[in-house]
Amino acid sequence: MPFVGMIQARIDRMEEFDQLVIKTASILGMTFTRVLLWAILPSGTTPDSFGEALQRLADSGIFMCSSPASRSQKTSTTSGKAQTVTCLCTLADGSSNEKPMRECLLLRFQSGSLQETAYQMLLENARKPLHKKAALFLESMAHKCQVMSHNDNDDHQDFDELKFLCSLTPGWPLTPESS
Ligand SMILES: [Zn+2]
Repeated sequence: MPFVGMIQARIDRMEEFDQLVIKTASILGMTFTRVLLWAILPSGTTPDSFGEALQRLADSGIFMCSSPASRSQKTSTTSGKAQTVTCLCTLADGSSNEKPMRECLLLRFQSGSLQETAYQMLLENARKPLHKKAALFLESMAHKCQVMSHNDNDDHQDFDELKFLCSLTPGWPLTPESS
């Protein structure tokens, strides 16, 4: 069985909802933000089930935290015991604290083959509406960031998170499929 077939079989064995999360994430590229993935998932999804799926997918080595701090952290597997996967997303003020992966703001696929295979498994006609949804969300996000940059004293509850997300917006690796 070729390598891609093995990954496909691995994804096929997962819970249906987890499969949906992986495939949906795959249209966003290797790295994606939590809010963007959340925005393009089916509207009936609850925050709890979303968080749990992220945790499971991180525990099983599909997703990982993509913050620079996490990437520089060496993972040791010498004990043979499953590694506790944690998130080290850095906020815009430079602070970061270790959180469970269910709260991770910036995630990535563990490997490019995982992302590519998941994308291939997503039906052609399912991709387009997802790309559209993502593009619309990014537009509204860009607007929010613009408003925020003119209004620096905002003490909105999600302010830190928004600031963090806005700092990522310019390099967003979204390649919309236009046709
Ligand atoms: Zn993280």
